[in-house]
Amino acid sequence: MYNEVIRFIRETFNEPEAFVPLHAPYFGGNEKKYLLDTIDSTFVSSVGAYVNRFEEMMASITGAKYAIAITNGTTALQLALVLAGIRRDDEVITQPLTFVATANAITHSGGIPVFVDVDKDTMGMSSKALESFLTEYAEVRDGQCFNKQSGRRIAACVPMHTFGFPCRIDEIAALCDTYKIALVEDAAESLGSYYKGQHTGTFGLMGTFSFNGNKTVTCGGGGAIVTNDEKVAQHAKHLSTTAKIPHPYEFVHDEVGYNYRMPNLNAAVACAQLEQLSIILDNKRALAEIYNSYFAGKDIQFVTEGTDARANYWLNTVVLKDLEARDAFLNETNGSKVMTRPIWKLMNKLPMYAHCQAGDLTNSLWLEDRVVNIPSSYRP
Ligand SMILES: *Cc1c(COP(=O)(O)O)cnc(C)c1O
Repeated sequence: MYNEVIRFIRETFNEPEAFVPLHAPYFGGNEKKYLLDTIDSTFVSSVGAYVNRFEEMMASITGAKYAIAITNGTTALQLALVLAGIRRDDEVITQPLTFVATANAITHSGGIPVFVDVDKDTMGMSSKALESFLTEYAEVRDGQCFNKQSGRRIAACVPMHTFGFPCRIDEIAALCDTYKIALVEDAAESLGSYYKGQHTGTFGLMGTFSFNGNKTVTCGGGGAIVTNDEKVAQHAKHLSTTAKIPHPYEFVHDEVGYNYRMPNLNAAVACAQLEQLSIILDNKRALAEIYNSYFAGKDIQFVTEGTDARANYWLNTVVLKDLEARDAFLNETNGSKVMTRPIWKLMNKLPMYAHCQAGDLTNSLWLEDRVVNIPSSYRP
């Protein structure tokens, strides 16, 4: 039934027979050179020139005042929530349609996830759903937000820009402002994605990024926190480096810190990758345009950026007619060694998050049954 789509994807990747991956990393620049530099320098761990350079590059790319290099996207989000003041049993509002790391990072920070629905078009947190949840359950007392049903503090909100498609983040930021909730964007998937001309991850107190092997650019494993707040930036660096007071030889630490700073080995690869970011983004956009024309008029809908958004087209996304069509598509493509993947199972359906409070999740449930990612690698 989907033979023609399979043939088209193979043609697009110039791969007549072999396995077509969902998203392979592309190393076309100075990766090996910088990696050898770090080994020659012996500064392989988290003190090193590339770590600092990576931070400068991330600040410049996102337009944030500060960027802090972190070991990965999950620890970056956990640390950002700790920095935002999450205390044990505070609630953190997020979306149920996300990679499990979002909810896990909330839990690692001591928080309890609460799920509100996504928009059908962006697949990211819905400002309308957030507003109706807050209208029904939230109450601001002494400059802090509380959940009238659970009695707990609602300390933060973590929207996620699904597959690099920006959600309506300006409206979410305005709601967080009104309700005195810290906004921390999980921008792990949206490096190079903008909303109304502003880079994702820069609309709230902090934004976090991932450089895992499957992301738009990668350094094996890596992450970053970006912020415009100088105090938060300094605290992020302090906490991520065991909260050590600088001293030439003594061990003095003034908080329970973390060992979360990105090693120089990884930062070297990250710098080389960021140097090629615009080439990679152009290449991915060209692929998305090819897909968009191909799927036009077919009963498979290709997802495009909204009018206010510029997406990085990290993972190209299609929406099938229903669950049956989705399953047939997944079976046939993967059976033909063309890798495709369904969107995540909703977080509130996983055993560890089944007890969490959730709003009306109509759109998330609808998307869960229909959304599939198709091959999206850089094409040399
Ligand atoms: C990849 C990803 C993360 C986690 O990043 P890691 O670097 O793999 O820890 C977090 N949130 C989302 C939405 C992601 O896609």
